[in-house]
Formats: sequence, C-alpha cells, structure tokens
Amino acid sequence: MTDFAATKACFHLPEGMVYLDGNSLGPLPKAATARMTQAMEAEWGDMLITGWNRGGRDGAGWMAQPTALGDRIGGLIGAEAGSVVLGDTLSIKVYQALASALELRPDRRVVISDSGNFPSDLYMADGLIRSLDKGHELRVVAPDEVEAAITDEVAAIMITEVDYRSGRKHDMAALTKKAHSVGALAIWDLAHSAGALEVDLSGAGADFAVGCTYKYLNGGPGAPAFIYVAPRHAKTARPALSGWLGHESPFAFDLDYRPGSGIERMRVGTPPVLAMAALECAMDIWDMTTMADVRAKSIDLTERFVKGIESTCPMLLLASPRDPAERGSQISFAFPDGYAAMQALIARGVIGDFRAPDIMRFGFTPLYVDEADVDRAVEIIADVMNNRLWDRPEYKRRARVT
Ligand SMILES: *Cc1c(COP(=O)(O)O)cnc(C)c1O
Repeated sequence: MTDFAATKACFHLPEGMVYLDGNSLGPLPKAATARMTQAMEAEWGDMLITGWNRGGRDGAGWMAQPTALGDRIGGLIGAEAGSVVLGDTLSIKVYQALASALELRPDRRVVISDSGNFPSDLYMADGLIRSLDKGHELRVVAPDEVEAAITDEVAAIMITEVDYRSGRKHDMAALTKKAHSVGALAIWDLAHSAGALEVDLSGAGADFAVGCTYKYLNGGPGAPAFIYVAPRHAKTARPALSGWLGHESPFAFDLDYRPGSGIERMRVGTPPVLAMAALECAMDIWDMTTMADVRAKSIDLTERFVKGIESTCPMLLLASPRDPAERGSQISFAFPDGYAAMQALIARGVIGDFRAPDIMRFGFTPLYVDEADVDRAVEIIADVMNNRLWDRPEYKRRARVT
C-alpha cells in the first residue's frame, strides 16, 4: 500500500491551503527547485550545446528526454514501451493524432466527438478539417449518444475520457471496440485521466491517445503534452506536423521529409528541456505509488467529500455522477452564483475552480490531498454557503482565468 503521507511530503503546499485544483495545475514537487537549478547551471550554464548529448539528470542527453519521460508516463496509462513521446501542448497533440487517424482512413469523412469535450479539442479538429478541405465533418453529439453515433461512415472518434466539467467518465474499452467494429479509429484524450485513474490503452486497443502533464501529473505550468500511437500504427501513421525532429535522420538535413522510426515521428521541433527537468521530479513521486492505490484513495476522498457537502449544503447540486465508477477524480457542484462562491472559497484557502456556466469544480489528488483536507474543505464550504459569505461585489468580478 502506498504511503500517501510520504508522497504528500514531496510537494510544496502553501501553509493553510487546501488545494483541490490539481486537475487544472498540480503543485510543485519540492525536488524540482534544486533540479531546475541544476539543469540551468550545470547543464544549460556549463554544458551549453553539448547538453543535447550529455545533459539530463542521467547524462543521456536532452535529446533523449522526450521518449524517456514518455515511457515513464506510458507506465501510468497502460502504454507499451516506446509508444509515448513528450512535446508541444495538448492542443497540438490532438491535431497530430486526428490528422494521422484521418490519413489512415482516407475513404471516410466523419469524426465523432461529444459536447462534453474540452473546446480546444473541438477547435483543433475544426481547424484541421478546414485546412484539409476534403469534406470532413466533425459531428458533436451528446456524451451518451457517442456509441450510437459510431457508424461505418466514421473515420475516427475523438473523445476525452473524463469530462472536464462534470467528471463523467466514458467507457474507453467499449467505445474503442465499437469504433473498431465499424472500421473506425479511436483517439482518446487523457487530460483528466492520466494520474487520475487507471487507464489501459493497450488493453482497450486505443489507436491514439494524448494528454497533458501539468494537471494530475504535476509537471508544472506549461509542461509538455504527450502522445501515444499504438505500436501497430507506429510505422504507418503519417505525421502531419512534419518537423525536423520527427525526421528519420534530423542531422542529415535532407531536403525531403522521411518520418522517423516509431513514436519518434510524432516529435515536431526542439523539446522544452527545462520543463522536462521539472517533470522528471514529478515522475519520481509517481514511482512511489501505483494507479490502483491512487484510484482507491481517490474514490474514498471523493465519496467523503460528496457525503460531507450533501449533508451540509443543500443549495449545491451534485453535477458529477454519483457512482464513483462512472467518474474521474473530481467532484463538481452546480450553483447559480458558483463563480462568486468559488472566489469566496479561494479567499479562505480552499482552492477549486469555476467552469461556466455554473460549475464549482474540486479535484481530488491522493498524492497530496488527505481526509483531513477534505474535512477542512467541507467545513469552510459549509460556512461560505450557509452564511452567504460569497455575496459580495469583490467576489463577482471575473478574472481573466477562472
Ligand atoms: C486541459 C485540456 C486541454 C488544454 O490544452 P493545452 O494545449 O495544454 O492548453 C485540452 N484538452 C483537454 C481535454 C483538456 O482537459
């Protein structure tokens, strides 16, 4: 069993704060500060350009980091070794995955996604379809209509497993199976899954997957995204963003593009070396646990939170599935003045976030949130809600980031 007190001790958590927003941005691993200094002084500072071949904590070179870290993340999401690579941002990885999938299904024109998806995924799909100009159609259906929408016109389904607003979780294995049964491909966005619950990409037969590392994985603001390509597509998936570092031989400087071997072809350009140094420290903490332990503890914490809020705050309406098996690692409540209520909570050290139009969202992250944190959060939320402490003009002014 994981020692969650030990994992919690690995994070810098401000005194007096209950941090329930690790689903948006994970906290700072304490070791990252020294590691970043080392990466800057000993590597960037003293190695300069030679760091590409000998930098990194293990001395394997900065150039090797995107696949080395990819394998470590792969271990948390049921990916085969050598099938995950880091780089760019999630929006870009969504574009890459969808572009490759559409090229693998040249006779089909329909992409299925759902209205619970994060808008950036839909925007990227829309932009790709416009650039391709081949008559593709992005069909956005209600989350519970995805399965029925998978017909033999469909080239790919592009689904975020866990809904960023409600936490509702799709059945990855079942939808992937349905997609394959009609000859379609399945792309999974794991933004709210990686580090939140057990994912088995290989077992589910997913074709592509993407995700970010700054949410549950705790890689830090602007940490790079990852992409998974199933080994069976590794040699046939064409990279649409054919940058030089995805080339078979970047330092041959050929004028023609030839995709690199396997997952390397999903690299685009120069990797974010400093950001990856911080992510390494986050991954060290993941080595102290298993996703089975994290999931079990996450369910305990979310159940405790729902019970606590429902018994004290009748004005808050549960907006997440009641059955923990049907949700990720967050709990959302609907409340018409949710924005102001969340600002009042933040002012009192309970950090969640707000998602329009009326969702108060709380993430539960067993690596650094424990039962005492949940109880303290419930107590403060009950005080704010029952005494209408949110009903003040300064809590109603919207900031740029909610
Ligand atoms: C957080 C999130 C994003 C954000 O994309 P970035 O390019 O990293 O800003 C995209 N898609 C989903 C599903 C997300 O949850």
